[in-house]
Amino acid sequence: SMASPALLMRVVASAYSVAEKAATIVRNVMSAGDLGIVEKAGPNDLQTKADRLVQMSICASLARKFPKMTIIGEEELPTDDVTEDLIEDGQCEEILKKPCPAQYTGIKEEELVIWVDPLDGTKEYTEGLLDHVTVLIGIAYGGKAIAGVINQPYYNYEAGANAVLGRTIWGVLGMGAFGFQLTEAPAGKHIVVTTRSHSSALVNECIAALNPDHVIRVGGAGNKIIQLIEGKASAYVFASPGCKKWDTCAPEAILHAVGGKITDICGNSFQYNKEVKHMNSAGVLATLRNYDYYASRIPNTVKESLVP
Ligand code: AMP
Ligand code: MG
Ligand code: MG
Repeated sequence: SMASPALLMRVVASAYSVAEKAATIVRNVMSAGDLGIVEKAGPNDLQTKADRLVQMSICASLARKFPKMTIIGEEELPTDDVTEDLIEDGQCEEILKKPCPAQYTGIKEEELVIWVDPLDGTKEYTEGLLDHVTVLIGIAYGGKAIAGVINQPYYNYEAGANAVLGRTIWGVLGMGAFGFQLTEAPAGKHIVVTTRSHSSALVNECIAALNPDHVIRVGGAGNKIIQLIEGKASAYVFASPGCKKWDTCAPEAILHAVGGKITDICGNSFQYNKEVKHMNSAGVLATLRNYDYYASRIPNTVKESLVP
């Protein structure tokens, strides 16, 4: 008989199913109409009932199946006492059937760190910009983002009643990424994607220095990485603190799995071991192609304003 799938593939297969359950929760909270908005650090740092329920659902579901993993979620909520209706036990069969990259077959449960953003793009969710929203589950090993799942609960929501709503993108380093059509951005054009709700003078100064042909301002770190891998933008540029490890882990794994690159604005790679500082203090620079073009044009004055 077939050997049982490697741990990493079982974790990714679970994360896929758990993220689909999360998407259902995100849609149900919105259609029920009571978002239960709470301000965390301030009016631009919000938490809704969907953030809370999804945090509990993802963390409790993964912890029950893989009790030795470290799971770090954005929202500070208890994961004991989570009601059964929030638990997802399924595993995506298609993922279980795929071979694990050889370098990851020996990974043990206690060596994995899972970074969870239950709802990325909360500000936009509260404003009805629903396709900006993603659910992010990043999987790190040895301090590196090696696999990730991005669910977009409202993908296709403007495409009409016959379109299938929502999608799940996943990837593993050494395997590639699935659930979308990899597309290059228009050649010779510099299209920058950045924040819409966390701008600052420095954020805008950095973008202006790149002299882009076009700037797209949308919410969510997950959403902006999707813009890169689907060819809508050529660089994600955010010269500000604010993004955290749970924002970048799953997107980083998927972007790297298709040959892209993400660092802070100064060019340092991100670390995802469990002891690491949560804040990406020196911002984000990410591309699918031509990373060096953008990195070489970030002004030194911008780099010096951001301390990693
Ligand atoms: P954005 O591009 O503004 O949607 O930000 C991407 C991610 O980083 C989201 O999860 C935001 O909540 C988070 N983020 C960025 N800047 C800030 C900030 N100034 N305060 C709180 N969260 C932020
Ligand atoms: Mg986020
Ligand atoms: Mg969030």
